[in-house]
Amino acid sequence: MSAEETLAQVTKEVVVCKKCALSRSRKNAVPGEGPAYAEIMFVGEGPGFHENEQGRPFVGAAGNFLNELLAQAGLKRSDVWITNVVKCRPPGNRDPLPEEIATCDQYLERQIDAINPKIIITLGRYSMGKFMPGAKISSVHGQMRRVGDRFVIAMFHPAAALHQASIKPAIMKDFAQLPKLLEQARSALKRSGPSNKQVPEKEDPKQLNLF
Ligand code: URA
Ligand code: SF4
Repeated sequence: MSAEETLAQVTKEVVVCKKCALSRSRKNAVPGEGPAYAEIMFVGEGPGFHENEQGRPFVGAAGNFLNELLAQAGLKRSDVWITNVVKCRPPGNRDPLPEEIATCDQYLERQIDAINPKIIITLGRYSMGKFMPGAKISSVHGQMRRVGDRFVIAMFHPAAALHQASIKPAIMKDFAQLPKLLEQARSALKRSGPSNKQVPEKEDPKQLNLF
């Protein structure tokens, strides 16, 4: 299956998923969205009110701020992949439970495998906990760490900046570093451009003479 096909298959499963209790209170599951070739993947916490209404990630106030941060870093939202650790809204925006995160993780894992991003940016403590267990956001935010075949950067959650004015300058500074960090990731991973596009083999000109 191509990356696009895998992502479409995961979306198809998520929208009808009943594997955890969050399925009972959701209006719309939020599988995530973006291009299969994305070099950067954002992983947030879980859908909130507006995401649950629309079935799309980061479309409320935090999403608007995320769009601004991306634009300031010279990145287009349409070039990155955006999803969450749980795909259904916890009622009343409560924290997702460990068993809900664990049950939903199979979808996130399949999305990561398909996209093969160079950088995963965690937004919030649950996604940070998946990739950097035990890390403290106040000390690791904005730093790029190698995790397996890619890099992970923990960022403050955009909603935190909306509630705590003191976080805003830090999150803006961290996002401003992204183009530089992406260049570093590309050269360290020795892969540039689309993360998973099949580059067609160059035709050997000598071969053409045989026919
Ligand atoms: N906050 C999140 O963590 N995810 C969303 O999709 C929206 C808000
Ligand atoms: Fe399924 Fe994840 Fe939604 Fe739970 S949160 S019902 S595991 S898609």
